Amino acid sequence: MNVYDSDRMQAILNAKGFRSEAELRKADVILINTCSIRDKSEQKVLSLLGELKGLKQKDPKKVIAVSGCVGQRMGRTLLQRVPHLDLVLGPDAIDRVGDLIENVVNRGERLVEAKFDEDGRSYSQPCVVNRAKPSEFLTIMKGCDHFCTYCIVPFVRGREKSRSVDEIITDVKNLVSKGTKEVTFLGQNINTYGKGTGQKLSQLIEAANEVEGLERIRYVTSHPRDLGEDLINQFGSISKLCPALHLPFQAGSDRILKAMSRLYTQELYLKKVELLRKACPDIALSTDVIVGFPGETEKDFEETLKVLANVKFSSAFMFKYSPRPGTKAADFGDEVPEIVKEERLARAQQVVYSQIEKENLKYRNTVVSVLVESMDKKKKFFSGRTPHSKLVHVMNVGDASVGKIIDVEITDTNVSCLKGFYVGAPKTNIQFNSFERGIESSFSASLSPTLH
Ligand code: SAH
Ligand code: SF4
Repeated sequence: MNVYDSDRMQAILNAKGFRSEAELRKADVILINTCSIRDKSEQKVLSLLGELKGLKQKDPKKVIAVSGCVGQRMGRTLLQRVPHLDLVLGPDAIDRVGDLIENVVNRGERLVEAKFDEDGRSYSQPCVVNRAKPSEFLTIMKGCDHFCTYCIVPFVRGREKSRSVDEIITDVKNLVSKGTKEVTFLGQNINTYGKGTGQKLSQLIEAANEVEGLERIRYVTSHPRDLGEDLINQFGSISKLCPALHLPFQAGSDRILKAMSRLYTQELYLKKVELLRKACPDIALSTDVIVGFPGETEKDFEETLKVLANVKFSSAFMFKYSPRPGTKAADFGDEVPEIVKEERLARAQQVVYSQIEKENLKYRNTVVSVLVESMDKKKKFFSGRTPHSKLVHVMNVGDASVGKIIDVEITDTNVSCLKGFYVGAPKTNIQFNSFERGIESSFSASLSPTLH
């Protein structure tokens, strides 16, 4: 969501005549878009702001701004705490970023804009991004009405509001006309898209499936309680919907799920998994897990391991619990010691990573379909993803180009990716080691970021 918000602000500023500058030192305006989901992400913002103090002292005309969830959470306090900061804006002020920055530049004012829009359930936010990568994110709603006790999102992104199906489909068509082949719809609790407007996510997926030229549809993030039968059954019946779903379970223990206010049990979660696999037997499931929630015992944690072992996820984002100011869980007490959190995280990772390694091995000597997302500068390697969201590095190019969907024969795998050759071109004789060095230096910045 932040990637999408950053792209949006960049487009708005470009339209005002601002140009992007790769070198921080040379920029007249430095805008930091931020995340406050865990304390660590906030600390990073504060330390970056500290590093920028010298630049501002050297050139007082330089404008330094903070947008996003840290801006929303800290508001005026951030402006007071960081004297060299000029502007703080929350997620709902994104569309005004151009005017706000101009005000600071022209009038030298220090500003805070961190109020939520309070209008009804529907909101409009047509896509303003000019470029169209092969795979694009598209935010279709904002906010969240669940108040999971650990989570800061409802406090920094406000209540749920949805864009209309028509507006979103217009965006999809525009992106496709410029070359996009895959869209990932974004929402914090995307299953309840359309709440209060009479529209549903399954309707949007059906409408997107009809868009000519669009090849792949994905959406994120689902909530296990709100993932309805209509959505589950679409995995077997909607041709462009990728066989992949991110379905966070957070914790395996019913006691902890209750304390988290997740509104489902382990049994219900596993039932949804069963229904998904019935609708689409090879669906790739990914998840989020929090270890060390207040009061989590070894026995509770073993329930998390049990779910991991049972479901066999294709990928998992696993986090140590981080208390967030203003959330209910921050007052629960009974904190799990850091060392225990670390040990549990390592054990959970070990289970998941060894499963993924085994799953990836099964791809060896098979042919997968890859949407080419990026190529290295010398056009010797390229990377992309399969419909199941597996990252694939390809070592020969032929007539493949960014945006094409091609068949790739997988010859090697590890825990993080598959590697192979485009079947439409002669195999090249590349050593994996040098290939990987090339990959690291040329792709790291250009590939679609992974979730979160
Ligand atoms: N709306 C999504 C994701 C929200 S944030 C959902 O409901 O799943 C992304 C992930 O960050 C969450 O799934 C959760 O695993 C993690 N997270 C959120 N708050 C956290 C906290 N206080 N400490 C550690 N991890 C957290
Ligand atoms: Fe946070 Fe997701 Fe729960 Fe909403 S549903 S409160 S975004 S974890």
